[in-house]
Amino acid sequence: MNSPTPDETIARAVTALKEADGLLVTAGAGMGVDSGLPDFRGNEGMWAAYPALGRARLDFTRIANPAAFLANPRLAWGFYGHRLKLYRETRPHEGFELLQRIAAPLAHGLFVFTSNVDGQFQKAGFPEARILECHGSIHHLQCLSSACPSGIWPAAGFAPIVDEAGCLLTNAFPLCPACGGIARPNILMFDDWDWLEDRTRQQRLRIDDWLARVRRPVVIEAGAGIAIPTVRHFGERVGGTFIRINPRDAQRPRQDALVLELGALDGIRRLAGRLL
Ligand SMILES: [Zn+2]
Repeated sequence: MNSPTPDETIARAVTALKEADGLLVTAGAGMGVDSGLPDFRGNEGMWAAYPALGRARLDFTRIANPAAFLANPRLAWGFYGHRLKLYRETRPHEGFELLQRIAAPLAHGLFVFTSNVDGQFQKAGFPEARILECHGSIHHLQCLSSACPSGIWPAAGFAPIVDEAGCLLTNAFPLCPACGGIARPNILMFDDWDWLEDRTRQQRLRIDDWLARVRRPVVIEAGAGIAIPTVRHFGERVGGTFIRINPRDAQRPRQDALVLELGALDGIRRLAGRLL
């Protein structure tokens, strides 16, 4: 069987979306790139965005690591504080709104499953109760001490000030309300045995309940990479029509999957253009 042309792919996707009763959006770092956010694939991009980490030869796996918070909390919070500020200031691109408009007529609306910790779906107006963040969220904190019972709390009260040249937090650390120790982001990092998954577990219950009610799901996967394939695997297993939007890793997971070899915003715009 020949691969369908891009036009045929769009036409099939649009037909499926017209017949669907629920839209599952599965999204990875590629979804944020079109809002101007960096993704951390490869040292080059990472060290261009954070030159101080390049000088120290610290790659993503070593700075996104609880050990970095224990060894050098000013540096680790320099990296995460800068990102927290960046995500707060970023305006989500038009694709976020288009996805909400695509899902608006569907009986069960939409649900989002994302590995992004940036909170951009919430910022774009998606309801908190319709988002699963499988790697946690930078907008929430937990205690750096694994023995502390403080749980998870919002990062809203913490406004980081970062010396960008040195990648160092220059104001006070966010502190744990229970023990007064240094807090860390409630994000699943590398070599991380202490990440608190209570929020994600609640989100998982909600998505399972939603999926049990949807009879004709369509999955739109946008910008989900292959390095950590959690997002790709979740969407591929849902059933219904599967649409992959990816400019680089555009493999077809099964014969009837629809693949658009495009950036996230581009692909969503193509779908919306024919549907709305
Ligand atoms: Zn504590």
